[in-house]
Amino acid sequence: MRRSHHALKPSYAIICPKCAEPVLPHRMCTSCGTYRGKELRAEKVAA
Ligand SMILES: [Zn+2]
Repeated sequence: MRRSHHALKPSYAIICPKCAEPVLPHRMCTSCGTYRGKELRAEKVAA
């Protein structure tokens, strides 16, 4: 019982609307780079 439980992963997740992969809430989808329907990877290429 030495705080080994602090490393537990959250048991909840949302489903990426784009690729349907389980993603942690408030996190960019690590599979397709989309967050809440927007591709953040392309954000820096904004016109
Ligand atoms: Zn995705």
